[in-house]
Amino acid sequence: MAFEGLTSRLQNVFGKLRGKGKLSEEDVNEAMREVRLALLEADVNFKVVKDFIAKVKEQAVGAEVTKSFTPGMVVIDIVNKELTELMGGTQSKLAKSNRPPTVILMAGLQGAGKTTSSGKLAKMLMKDKHRPLLVACDIYRPAAIKQLQVLGEGIGAPVFTMGDKTSPVEIARAGLAHAKEHGNDYVIIDTAGRLHIDEALMEELRQVHEVANPDEVLLVVDAMTGQEAVNVAQSFHSQLELTGVVLTKLDGDTRGGAALSVKAVTGTPIKFVATGEKIEPLEPFHPSRMASRILG
Ligand code: GDP
Repeated sequence: MAFEGLTSRLQNVFGKLRGKGKLSEEDVNEAMREVRLALLEADVNFKVVKDFIAKVKEQAVGAEVTKSFTPGMVVIDIVNKELTELMGGTQSKLAKSNRPPTVILMAGLQGAGKTTSSGKLAKMLMKDKHRPLLVACDIYRPAAIKQLQVLGEGIGAPVFTMGDKTSPVEIARAGLAHAKEHGNDYVIIDTAGRLHIDEALMEELRQVHEVANPDEVLLVVDAMTGQEAVNVAQSFHSQLELTGVVLTKLDGDTRGGAALSVKAVTGTPIKFVATGEKIEPLEPFHPSRMASRILG
């Protein structure tokens, strides 16, 4: 599961702190040096690490820590609070349009888990008694449309397709009209991914964005790619104004760098995480729960 390395490193550091009745400034500095290394090893962006350590240190050498009978615990609380802040503080919920349908544009590189996550998102919405429509706008990857259809069938969600000869912009437009006619209150648009970010991909996304006028633009990124996921998020965000990130493959990410850096680097919150290939409901991301999990 995620964060194994980071969790055991931090437990080690805090184990030492907990045992002490009083903390000197040097104790705190030593602990922070180790936390810094642990975060860097977890592939957290170096600037994010630097700011994080500065914030924790500032509080950890403060009066409350020195006055406390359990100073180690106070430091752990500070780290917990700052980790939570780093990941966005509070849970960022999915947008909801006042005038349904709520339109969600799913973007991301090929293989990130976009189509799978679209299915999971539909399943999550259906669990809450919504009626999502999946719209197949990935006309380039040969199996993508079929994959979405099979996925939709599996969970009982309708899938709107127009094959691979119509432009994604037209499919999006027709998909929206279809949703309005059929009373679907959410529209999930699965767009094409590329192996790398390129101008053609962005231009097409911008056009689909323009006709769909989405309430949410969710970028799907693969947690296992660490800082690369953060770079991808930054590039997309600079061109498309993302409203949230879906962090996939957290089940295979042992380091956790993407989860800890995405919000701080891009300003875009992680809204959901995915932890497997099976089509389960997408899991909302809770910064505080994740922080507690990291601390073990
Ligand atoms: P897309 O190209 O972005 O649409 O990616 P797909 O949805 O086709 O996913 C690519 C591969 O990643 C597939 O084999 C999925 O089963 C797998 N996948 C997607 N999400 C997850 C996840 O959260 N965990 C794991 N382990 N695999 C995932």
